[in-house]
Amino acid sequence: MTDTPLCIKVHDSDNVAIVVNAPGLPAETRFPDGLVLCEFVPEGHKVALTDLAAGAEIRRYGEVIGYAVRDIPKGSWIEESLVALPIAPTLETLPLATCVPAAQPALEGYTFEGFRNPDGSVGTKNILGISMSVQCVAGVLDIAVQKIKKELLPKYPNVDDVIAIEHIYGCGVAINAPEAVIPIRTLQNLVVHPNLGGAVMVVSLGCEKLQPERLLPNGQSASIVTLQDPRHIGFGSMIASIMDMADKRLAELDKRQRETCPASDLVVGLQCGGSDAFSGVTANPALGVAADLLVRAGATVMFSEVTEVRDAIHLLTPRAVNEDVGRALIREMQWYDTYLAAGDSDRSANPTPGNKKGGLANVVEKALGSVAKSGSSAIVGVLAPGERATQKGLLYAATPASDFICGTLQTASGCNVELFTTGRGTPYGLSMVPVIKVSTRTTLAERWHDLIDFDAGRIATGKMSLEEAGWEIFRLILEVASGRHETWADHWQIRNSLALFNPAPVT
Ligand code: CA
Repeated sequence: MTDTPLCIKVHDSDNVAIVVNAPGLPAETRFPDGLVLCEFVPEGHKVALTDLAAGAEIRRYGEVIGYAVRDIPKGSWIEESLVALPIAPTLETLPLATCVPAAQPALEGYTFEGFRNPDGSVGTKNILGISMSVQCVAGVLDIAVQKIKKELLPKYPNVDDVIAIEHIYGCGVAINAPEAVIPIRTLQNLVVHPNLGGAVMVVSLGCEKLQPERLLPNGQSASIVTLQDPRHIGFGSMIASIMDMADKRLAELDKRQRETCPASDLVVGLQCGGSDAFSGVTANPALGVAADLLVRAGATVMFSEVTEVRDAIHLLTPRAVNEDVGRALIREMQWYDTYLAAGDSDRSANPTPGNKKGGLANVVEKALGSVAKSGSSAIVGVLAPGERATQKGLLYAATPASDFICGTLQTASGCNVELFTTGRGTPYGLSMVPVIKVSTRTTLAERWHDLIDFDAGRIATGKMSLEEAGWEIFRLILEVASGRHETWADHWQIRNSLALFNPAPVT
């Protein structure tokens, strides 16, 4: 970390900057441009670059992130209580497809080694996944999976892992409620994830509302073990049936071989969690550069997290490739506004205590930093929660911002690599998809040297340009997708639970 006092102003029209030095800078600190701090300002927090009168706009990223609640002298720490939250952009009057970015030159010749599936999708891992139609069977399936890992998996060296697609859905739910389509679609798409090789295996109880056949895509057959089947005499028989089903499937999966695939077969999910004020100037824009490169290489890239997009939606609808896509973006924002209102909440429920400690005053500032992940390409499609991606290019996949729910929904949408930025730090990992974790600050990357895969904090200290970081991340994605570079989450086998998004009632 540099000893020279350093602060970052993102846009010419900004009247605040964030302090780069850890753990912050004391009163009387003089910056090279002559600015003097009148009090201690913590790392990542905002300093006023001019005198701000009560009610004045506070601008970061060239946008209004709030209004001064009282006079704030130049050189002061603008902590969150001094920032009044603006109203969210009105959805009815947004410009649609008014500023569609031109396509950048295609990037040719970039490839990775993946497992091609009969449906044309490509896996980055070779996993046996066993789904369930109801949580009732989870305990039995978990015991079976442990036994499969111990007794069967060693016979099939070409298979990476065995996992249960565990969830709490299936019974005790209003299965025909309109919004039940979201958890059901998510489960249907998880079982056909590219990393599972195409065939569906389900363990069922028998009496549940979500009958196992509903987990199958049209026309697909499945291996189903039903625990209430009269032929099962006791627990041992159930385990034996699951083991038998798994053994046959493992033998098929073991024949899969990696082959050279164009980078256009990548489906990359972008997410952030434990964000701080650096997220929007280091890690997220670096992902944005990588996203642009992926789009140029013909890949599918999805960004998500509705509450972290809502306050920047006026910057996104102009980038929609056409008015229909713009309207689809607005549809997802409206749906979420209604969903939050039904729970007597709004988007201000989003920032966490950690976000605030990291310098993010409110959800507007968080959102402006979050959407930097999307880069600068045209937005060519919008996915409702859990829908499978079928298009190339930059997509908006609507999901909650919750890390596990977003990760689950991006997995259901078919992402085969996920990029995850963090400022405060999270050990997050997924069972089905490799997760590349990118830190916003070098101090985090150093402290969590065996959890963070890429240090984007070097951008803040001038050791690396955004462009260089984006290219390095792009190349790292190809290495990880090829199985040549193991992420730290995979190295330690850190796995968060799958977490379904169920906005429908339970009974
Ligand atoms: Ca998140």
